[in-house]
Amino acid sequence: MRSFAYVRPPDVAAAIRAVAAEPDAKFLGGGTNLVDLMREGIERPGTVVDVTGLPLEEIEELPGGGVRIGALVRNSRLAAHRLIRTRYPMLAQAILSGASAQLRNMATVGGNLLQRTRCLYFYDGAAACNKREPGAGCAARDGFNRGGAILGASPACVATHPSDMCVALAALDAVVEAESVRGVRRIPLAGFHRLPGDTPHIETELAADELITAVELPALPIAAHSRYRKVRDRASYAFALVSVAAALEVRHGAVTTVRLALGGVAAKPWRASKAEQTLLGAPATEESFQRAAEIELAPAEGLRGNAFKIELARRTIVATLRQLLAQGGAA
Ligand code: SF4
Repeated sequence: MRSFAYVRPPDVAAAIRAVAAEPDAKFLGGGTNLVDLMREGIERPGTVVDVTGLPLEEIEELPGGGVRIGALVRNSRLAAHRLIRTRYPMLAQAILSGASAQLRNMATVGGNLLQRTRCLYFYDGAAACNKREPGAGCAARDGFNRGGAILGASPACVATHPSDMCVALAALDAVVEAESVRGVRRIPLAGFHRLPGDTPHIETELAADELITAVELPALPIAAHSRYRKVRDRASYAFALVSVAAALEVRHGAVTTVRLALGGVAAKPWRASKAEQTLLGAPATEESFQRAAEIELAPAEGLRGNAFKIELARRTIVATLRQLLAQGGAA
């Protein structure tokens, strides 16, 4: 690991000033991804601004029923919180399905949003990778791409976003709050992460000098009846091949409200808007669920190693909606 300056600011204002003053500075939260990348020489910040002492650890109920989550809330604490377990169970389930207990105890909400892909070639300094080195090529396209994207990929990059938490946040219409010397900005989670296009090294809408300070969840009564379902190669400590975050409300046999997002399929948490539109007002039946999944996945494209994920995603969407319906999505 190359040497770097270490700063531990006393407050948020000092933290954002410290990063604004150093163009190659990075904020350090739980460090569960950044420190690994620094050890491998993939990230080489000149200055590390340690934000773990900042007062961003509150989970607050908002007037009207939403919840505001400080960016430094640890994943394990968030998943165990009463407001999250009762009002947004898909979020608690998503967090608990990720990583290990030790990692969840360290990882922060802000850091989880900024997780980097687990594409093998991104971590291999000898491999061609446009995300690590723009213009170098993409070893995954013709290489090991079992975990690769089936939606929104580009010739430049087929990597997927690894977070489970973010899939639930996308389905819940969460909003990310970020602060810099220019002020406070609110970014809808659905637009926070970017698809690769020609610039896979630019992964989010966050500017380099912006500090994530909170995530807000809107009041969403339907979310009390929600699920996160994750399909992976082994039962724990594995990234999603496909995951689904879903909430469903049915009245008199028809879908009245639905939220649906997919993980493991794209460079960003994939809000399944076409499937949602298809389901609204439709009979809450297996046929409707199948049709919605097929419409959402119509543009999906597979590579040699990951084409199976298209059918897997279709089945996982249908199974999750079926389970929600059986467990009381109807009124
Ligand atoms: Fe790099 Fe993206 Fe290609 Fe993986 S898929 S090698 S991260 S460019």
